Amino acid sequence: MMSIGIAQNKKVHEFFLFFLFNAKNEKKESLLMNILIIGAGGFIGSHLSEELLKRHTAWEITAIDISNAKISHLLCNPNFHFLKLDILKDSLEDYIEASNVVFPLAAIASPSIYVRDPLRVFELDFEANLKIVKLAVKHKTRIIFPSTSEVYGMSQDAEFEEDYSNCVTGPICKQRWIYSCSKQMLDRVIYAYGIRDNLNYTLFRPFNWIGPRLDDICNKNNGSSRVVTQFLSNILHGDDIKVVGGGDQIRCFTYISDGIDALIKIIENDASSKRIINIGNPNNKCSIKELAEKMLALAKEYEKTKFNAERIKIVEIDSNDYYGKSYQDILVRVPSIQKAKGILDWHPKVGMEESLKKIMDFYFI
Ligand code: NAD
Repeated sequence: MMSIGIAQNKKVHEFFLFFLFNAKNEKKESLLMNILIIGAGGFIGSHLSEELLKRHTAWEITAIDISNAKISHLLCNPNFHFLKLDILKDSLEDYIEASNVVFPLAAIASPSIYVRDPLRVFELDFEANLKIVKLAVKHKTRIIFPSTSEVYGMSQDAEFEEDYSNCVTGPICKQRWIYSCSKQMLDRVIYAYGIRDNLNYTLFRPFNWIGPRLDDICNKNNGSSRVVTQFLSNILHGDDIKVVGGGDQIRCFTYISDGIDALIKIIENDASSKRIINIGNPNNKCSIKELAEKMLALAKEYEKTKFNAERIKIVEIDSNDYYGKSYQDILVRVPSIQKAKGILDWHPKVGMEESLKKIMDFYFI
């Protein structure tokens, strides 16, 4: 019905809101939905939007972001309404009020920024998102909020459990924890609103979701993107792959289609209400060094990267030299997914090799 640039035109904007309010009221009866995705132009938001439009052809998606580069292929879908708004400046109250469900996905999720510009992380990830949470409480809009595996921090548990594991962070001078603490505080606020004001929420905790459109690899990233896309960028540009602290850190990588499957089950399943749910794939447990080795081996099979992949090396780098002194690492991060299996009947399906192959096909073919 509507698409890009609505916010720029007041009349069209008002008409769009009128349409959304009506849709919300009508659709509550028939269990159809207005879904508001804030940060829809990002990695998770773009895949979520795409899959919702495929599976629920009668649902309306309102997509908010400062960029639509990753969702340009969805803009002509009549059920997809993109609004270029900045959550640091623009009010989202009308959209939150008019929606049945809100996904606040806009955040900075890149470790190099946690240490380089921690206050920017606090202002966006905490302050701007807190406003959204309060509006969801005010308008009784269901909120499905991205927490993170980072909230468990340096917990020593072999598997992190949502309702039992401690959240362990380091000293204040290790500024990298500002992301973990911002997310943890919002988890606590949302949980408290659930008890006091009956806020209908689900907190989901992604464990290293990976897939196409994760980050841009065309420019040399030099530490500004997430690990898989950082390595892809190194391979593409013929730079050695730097593994921080020897690369012994263990992570569990989750392919995006599995993650999105879980999110759609969360929307569809009332039993996920007032729960915290890890979404990760313990079968894809892999050290960062192994990840680099696997990716380099695979890159030799692509015309675009064969030449570089045969020449570049994996080199070790101290975390102080790579991220600076305010970094601190998490050695092992493995999710318990018993809750996701039990509540959502969700099981991750895509293995590590298949995930990397799909990602490289996307970036290198
Ligand atoms: P992303 O960086 O790919 O997407 C974030 C989106 O937010 C971007 O499109 C960006 O343009 C938008 N945005 C940034 N500032 C904005 C602003 N001021 N106004 C409006 N939009 C703005 O991140 P992602 O990987 O899609 O992650 C989404 C959420 O999930 C984040 O909250 C992140 O912390 C959380 N999360 C992701 C992972 C993962 O594995 N990807 C893991 C744990 C938690």
